[in-house]
Amino acid sequence: MIIDKFYYECSDCGAKYGNEEVRYLCPVCEKENSDTKPPKGVLKVQYDYHGHRIFGNAANIFKRLKDTKFIDLLPINDIKNFPKLEVGNTPLYKQEKLNDKKLSFNLFFKDDSQNPTYSFKDRASYLVSAYAKEKGIDTIVAASTGNAGSSLAGICASQNQKAIIMVPEAAPLAKLTQIVMYGAKIIPVKGTYDDAFDLSIKATKKHGWYNRNTAFNPLTIEGKKTVSFELYDQLNQTIPDRVFVPVGDGVIISGVYKGFEDLLQLGVIEKIPIIVAVQSEGSDNISRNMNNDVFELKASKTIADSISVDIPRNFYMAKNFLKKYNGEWLTVTDKEIINASVELSKNTGLFSEPAAATSFAGMLNYMNNNKLESKSSNVVLLTGSGLKDLQSVQSAISIPDAIDADVNNI
Ligand SMILES: [Zn+2]
Repeated sequence: MIIDKFYYECSDCGAKYGNEEVRYLCPVCEKENSDTKPPKGVLKVQYDYHGHRIFGNAANIFKRLKDTKFIDLLPINDIKNFPKLEVGNTPLYKQEKLNDKKLSFNLFFKDDSQNPTYSFKDRASYLVSAYAKEKGIDTIVAASTGNAGSSLAGICASQNQKAIIMVPEAAPLAKLTQIVMYGAKIIPVKGTYDDAFDLSIKATKKHGWYNRNTAFNPLTIEGKKTVSFELYDQLNQTIPDRVFVPVGDGVIISGVYKGFEDLLQLGVIEKIPIIVAVQSEGSDNISRNMNNDVFELKASKTIADSISVDIPRNFYMAKNFLKKYNGEWLTVTDKEIINASVELSKNTGLFSEPAAATSFAGMLNYMNNNKLESKSSNVVLLTGSGLKDLQSVQSAISIPDAIDADVNNI
């Protein structure tokens, strides 16, 4: 096995694999997998963490990593292979009040809708695209509820790569429009995200394409971890007490954990923040199964399409992270999600899609139940723009009829 910079480690059996070829799931654990259970054998990318400790104290280690755009903690060799679109380094906003009431705790919004295709998914596409470029691969396929697909399509357009996107036919129009506008080949699939996912993997095997499916491709988790490096830096090189994360298939939350775990391994931080997994009550296949020995599937139905998932593709890794680092989890209803979306927009000027507002709904639940200690530091991760799904909030708003343009009518 060649370990020149990084290697892969199976998150289930612990087997280690070299980086000389494209890798997806652990070939041993993969043999047990079926279409009705979350996959085993998702790989984690690991590095020589101890080698960095020679660079001194935590501040020096972090400065050196940041100055080199974290290349030593990413599975590519040259930052020149990244797309020229700017991904990450999204704003972190401090919120002092909600509905004119001063908050007793510190609240921050990490606005990842400011990425080039307006979602958090660009963090993964960015890395996958750079990796493909280094390997001389020009076609990348992904199954997506919409955001990962529109993200890959946009990033590939900027890199002159070909994207093939399989989406459930019910994906919101804005996301489908983005995919087509970016020039990707779109294949709507009858059925759910899970049907599109399985089809894309069969097509990958048949045609030899590079696959960006979340968790199946370990680089998706690795790309998403950069948000944690940014949070640490934006909070004056401290960790928050809590990060509220919207959860569907468990990849974003695993990415958030992986970023903090990297910093822990390097000795930059001393503990991992409490990560709060917020799921929609109508799509709760991770939180409902946290304490089950055998995974029980429930068909998902929620307004938050980006986190509507029957089979969470990174269930085991997300569960292990949550258990290992004392994470927390809760569900919120669709009504709470829509309400959170409205409250977020009018209080902050940040308009998020339902999946992103789910994390804010989780924070509101904690706040209303007095679970946020005074002066504690709490981050809400906003993962996608509200313009991606205008339909879902129509029930919460009303636009008045037009008036004659006569000033006496106002
Ligand atoms: Zn394994």
